[in-house]
Amino acid sequence: MTVPIAIDVAPERGQLPETLVFGATYTDHMFSQRYRQEAGWHDARIGPLQPLALHPAAAVLHYSQEIFEGLKAYRRADGGINLFRPDQNVARFNRSARRMVMPEVDAALHLAALKQFVDLERHWVPAAPGASLYLRPTMIATAPRLDLSAATEFLHFIIASPVGGYFGAGFQSVDVLVSDQCRRAVVGGVGEAKTGGNYAASLYASDAAARQGYQQVLWLDAREGRFIEEVGSMNICFVYADGSIRTPALTGSILPGITRDSLMQLAPRLGHSLEEAQLDIDEVLAGIDAGEITEVFGCGTSAVISPIGRLAFRGSEHVIGGGQPGPVARRLYETLSGIQYGSVEDPFGWVVRLD
Ligand SMILES: *Cc1c(COP(=O)(O)O)cnc(C)c1O
Repeated sequence: MTVPIAIDVAPERGQLPETLVFGATYTDHMFSQRYRQEAGWHDARIGPLQPLALHPAAAVLHYSQEIFEGLKAYRRADGGINLFRPDQNVARFNRSARRMVMPEVDAALHLAALKQFVDLERHWVPAAPGASLYLRPTMIATAPRLDLSAATEFLHFIIASPVGGYFGAGFQSVDVLVSDQCRRAVVGGVGEAKTGGNYAASLYASDAAARQGYQQVLWLDAREGRFIEEVGSMNICFVYADGSIRTPALTGSILPGITRDSLMQLAPRLGHSLEEAQLDIDEVLAGIDAGEITEVFGCGTSAVISPIGRLAFRGSEHVIGGGQPGPVARRLYETLSGIQYGSVEDPFGWVVRLD
């Protein structure tokens, strides 16, 4: 049986700002529960959002024993709220937990916490097109453990931030630099876990790319520096002239995206096969130059679909579809985001409605 969640309502409640900047605003409350080896998970509560008090030797601060998730609450036209495949997020959270030697959470409690939390914060779910309430489940190792032995105390929390549409100025393409030097993750490492260290490891390359005018980095496999893995913190898809789509197969160093999985189920219904493949960077760039590859896009919860207009590698630039978003990316974006917002029928049972 799932334990009840105590609710302590904040005395002062904030307002949804008119302009939303990603990650700039947080809601009034947070969910939290604690874990101790002897007691298991306990003290599940939703209370006022507040700073954490941590021992300076807490394992998370030194050895990055941390995992997180990212999902959104969407405002429907009828005023209700949708969550999108939250069961998949909690399943991945628990897979990440196992990889990082952290205790799994009770999936039913985590889902109940998400629903109660979003319900309490419902006035923070924006109604503007493309806007949503971004939810960030997190777990950290709180025990003071400089000796690197397995930590025994953990904090699981969920915070929320209202975010604007990713495409403020319309569906737009980004320019991407293929990293020739840095690698995001290795097979056998923690690339398939949503854990903070992967993102810290990616900052150097994204900073270098930004300084050269590229908004994202395309990551190649660490062993040969040859096979395409991901773009930024998104999965990546290639559309071929015959309408088929390919995405890198999950090799162990690629994060298994829920958007990616959703597209694999959705694309065939829209007449596009979406197959997993091993994609060699040189062959892909030649395919772009020959017009065999007509569209490239990233996919993930943040943008749903993020079209790529240019790929730069070893000093040469390859323009895809005249640098503009293509029709396949647009149709997949409109259909999947329509399902999320409830304006397109959901034949998959993905949407969880809060009314
Ligand atoms: C979260 C994430 C994705 C996308 O996953 P979604 O479940 O679709 O949001 C892809 N790659 C990386 C590295 C990620 O962290």
